[in-house]
Amino acid sequence: MKNELQTESLRQLLVAQKVQLIEKINLERGSATSRSEAAVVELSTAEQSHAQNITERDTAFAIQEHDLAELEAVELALKRIALEEYGQCQLCAADIPITRLLAFPSAMRCISCQTAVEKTAGSDAAWH
Ligand SMILES: [Zn+2]
Repeated sequence: MKNELQTESLRQLLVAQKVQLIEKINLERGSATSRSEAAVVELSTAEQSHAQNITERDTAFAIQEHDLAELEAVELALKRIALEEYGQCQLCAADIPITRLLAFPSAMRCISCQTAVEKTAGSDAAWH
């Protein structure tokens, strides 16, 4: 377990990250809505490229899914701080280096386990 001061600063980082993510998700939700509304207006005036609108909307949803996954990871990390499990690799129980936690406060695996997971899971897990 990290010392209390480190844990507290990491907790603050996580809380800040959580607030940022919620704001970002809300913003994306707002823009996604206004964009599809705009598309409806455009469609009624001209033969709009329908496919393009769908692609844009899908991209917005994909971004949101990524942010939601990140938000989940941040919340899980906060939960793990409360349980005093934070800073331990989820797979091998080794201490995650403080430098890694400072760079990725929501990291749940040590670098070697993360590398192994990324190899099997592909790019989906890469952001972690
Ligand atoms: Zn590990």
